[in-house]
Amino acid sequence: MENSDDFMAKIVALCKRRGFIFQSSEMYGGINGFWDYGPIGVALKRAVEQTWWKYMVEDRDNVEGLDSTIICHPMVWQASGHLANFADEMTDCTVCKKRFRVDQMDDPTTCPACGAKAMTPPRNFNLMMKTFVGPVFDEEHAAYLRAETCQPIFVDFNTIRIASRQKLPFGIAQTGKSFRNEINPRNFTFRSREFTQMEMEFFCHEDESMKWFDYWHEQRWNFYTKILGISEDKLRIHWHDKLAHYAKKALDIEFLYPFGWNEVEGVHHRGTWDMSQHAAYSKQEQDCRYFDQERNATYYPTVVETSCGLDRICLLLICNAYDEDTAATQKEGMDEDARVVLHFAPRIAPVQVAVLPLSKKLEEPATDLFRKIRGSFRAQYDVTGSIGKRYRRQDEIGTPFCVTFDFDSLNDNAVTVRDRDAMTQERVPVAELAQWLRNKIDK
Ligand code: ATP
Repeated sequence: MENSDDFMAKIVALCKRRGFIFQSSEMYGGINGFWDYGPIGVALKRAVEQTWWKYMVEDRDNVEGLDSTIICHPMVWQASGHLANFADEMTDCTVCKKRFRVDQMDDPTTCPACGAKAMTPPRNFNLMMKTFVGPVFDEEHAAYLRAETCQPIFVDFNTIRIASRQKLPFGIAQTGKSFRNEINPRNFTFRSREFTQMEMEFFCHEDESMKWFDYWHEQRWNFYTKILGISEDKLRIHWHDKLAHYAKKALDIEFLYPFGWNEVEGVHHRGTWDMSQHAAYSKQEQDCRYFDQERNATYYPTVVETSCGLDRICLLLICNAYDEDTAATQKEGMDEDARVVLHFAPRIAPVQVAVLPLSKKLEEPATDLFRKIRGSFRAQYDVTGSIGKRYRRQDEIGTPFCVTFDFDSLNDNAVTVRDRDAMTQERVPVAELAQWLRNKIDK
């Protein structure tokens, strides 16, 4: 079994080579904890985000969408407790000057980097990123980049409820950037300082909250196993044994990353904490409580939250899809050659179909076909290099179907479709190609 550092080094190299993900501001030496998604990475990220949005919002009658600002009124973060409590304990090594999160150390008295027993006493370090709004840079104008996407959902709850004419129980979802000044960004994009969250807050009556918790637990598990196609033995549930005082239940969905089991999503029972906190700080009680006609009662909604990181899902998908095997080659003196392949589920593959003319002479009819295909699928056109090289490139970005347009295609109006996983080739009439692909991709 390969060591996990070597495996991650391969993933990081592939991500850069093929334009998935690479360091932000690389020509200036990079900036720790910030990552750019290149052409293939952004296609993957958007595909996953759209899949989540469809599954969580568009396919449901009882979940509404929101796209709020990143900077909110600073009082939002006072009410949520982030300004006072959103902190990790950190400690510095006085010898090598490295900084660590105390909860991630086996022995907080010994430096994990240099082994010196010369650590500073633990100190609290607030993770909120600060900025200033307006022309004056003083405390009165201080503001914060949101540390989670859910707080604006609580603040906008009543406006959204009225506008959408929803009754409890219902949910509000949003996807977007969050920022945390993580002490120790690491494991590639797993722990970043700028990242995308996908969160849904479900508002219900306290008596029904445990039922909804179980429901969302199941729905979110199904998202990974059935929609993204992750095998169950690479996922597990970690139940929190230490709960926040207001919470009744909390769990993490963990994935077996190359660097170990780690959280990709949390499902949390948040009680009435959020809505009552915002009522207390804003004094806008009416926006935080709900009049339930059926029960003839007014109350703070109880919240069940599902919260995941898009970057962590993309990393999970790349690690899960990565494989090395052998494929037929036309290289001199060789029948087979090693190939790197990403076995993405076709519905989230960044490129779903590649159109490859066998010869430059076939460019015209092949580009015609490509133009038709790209309207319905994420498609790429590639005419450079031998067909073997082009297959290898597509394998490395996980393209499930390569369509080769050859000289026979001019006569029989058919193309050869090569399947990435089975490596079989099938002749498909051009007139049936779109439907053929649709059946395979939506499967
Ligand atoms: P961790 O314990 O790993 O720091 P957390 O419990 O603080 O995570 P939450 O506050 O529950 O995480 O955030 C919800 C989700 O947001 C996480 O499950 C994760 O997918 C994502 N997330 C949180 N912090 C980061 C980060 N620094 N980089 C990338 N994704 C993150």
